[in-house]
Amino acid sequence: MPTEESVYKIIDTIWMGRPKSIACVLVQSEGINALIDPGPTSTLETLRAGLQEHGLRVQDLHAILLTHIHLDHAGSVGSLVKENPQLDVFVHEFGAKHIADPAKLLASAARLYGGEMDRMYGEFLPVPQENLRPLAGGEIVTVGARKFSVLYTPGHASHHLTFWDSLDKNAFVGDVGGITVEGDTFIMPATPPPDISLDLWNKSLDAIAALKPEKIFLTHFGYQHDPVAHMERYRKKLADWAALVKDLLESGKSEEEAGKEFVDAVAGETRQAVSNSSEADHYIFNGGLYLSWLGLLRYTKKQKEKAQSAI
Ligand SMILES: [Zn+2]
Repeated sequence: MPTEESVYKIIDTIWMGRPKSIACVLVQSEGINALIDPGPTSTLETLRAGLQEHGLRVQDLHAILLTHIHLDHAGSVGSLVKENPQLDVFVHEFGAKHIADPAKLLASAARLYGGEMDRMYGEFLPVPQENLRPLAGGEIVTVGARKFSVLYTPGHASHHLTFWDSLDKNAFVGDVGGITVEGDTFIMPATPPPDISLDLWNKSLDAIAALKPEKIFLTHFGYQHDPVAHMERYRKKLADWAALVKDLLESGKSEEEAGKEFVDAVAGETRQAVSNSSEADHYIFNGGLYLSWLGLLRYTKKQKEKAQSAI
C-alpha cells in the first residue's frame, strides 16, 4: 500500500502572502493527478510553482475535487479548465450550476468583499458544462488507486462535500472543521453568509465522526490527528459563537454596533488563547470575523422567524 506521503502533497498557496492560510492538496496515484480545492486565481502562480516541484504542469492534471465553491477554495477552477480542457471537475450539484455560470456567486461575493475582491481572489472564469461531474453525496470518486467516498456535509455551505479516503482513514473536510493550523489546538470558526446552519453543521460533524477518522484535513490549514476531539471542540465553539450573536442581537444595539462588538470580542478571545501575537493575527485575518458575524446574524434571524411562525 502506498504511503500517504507518496499520494498526498500539500501545496501551500501562500494566499495574500501568508503561509498556512489556504492549502491545496495534490493527489497522485497510479499516474493520475488530482487537486482537492485548488484555491483562488490570485494564487494560481504559487499553485503552478507547487505543481512544478512535483514535476507537474496544469496540463498533467486529470481532475479537480471541490469541497465547495467559495472563492478561497474554488476560484481558480475555471482558469485551470481553460488551460486544461480535459479536467473533470467534481462538485456538489448545488454548486455546479454556480461555477458553470458564476454571475450570482460573484455578485454575492462582491457584496461581501467590495473592491477588495479582485486583489484577494482574482477572476472566476466559468467552467464549461462538459467538464462538470455533479455529485450529491454517496458516490465514489476514483483517483488512480484511491477511492474517495463522497459525503454531503452542509452547514458551512449548502453544497459542501467531504471526501473520505477509507484506506488512510482520512477525511478531506474543507471548512467543516473550521480554521486550525496543523499542530495547534485553537479553532477559529468560519461562518460566512449565506448558508450557515448550525443544525446541519452538527449533523455533518456527526457524519464525519461516524467514519472514525484517524485524521482530517482542513483547507485552513493541514491535518488534525485527533479529529474526534477537534470536532467536539469545534461543535462547542460554534454553539458559543451562536449564543454570543443571539445575545448581541437581543441587547437592543444596532446591528452595526453589535457586529463591531462581536468582532472585538472574538479578536480579544483569540489574542488571549493564542499567546504569540503574529499567530493570533493570522487567525484573526484568515477568520474574516465580520463575515462570520454576518453569516451567524442571518442564521440567527432565520431561526427566530422559524420559531415565530411555529407559534
Ligand atoms: Zn474556506
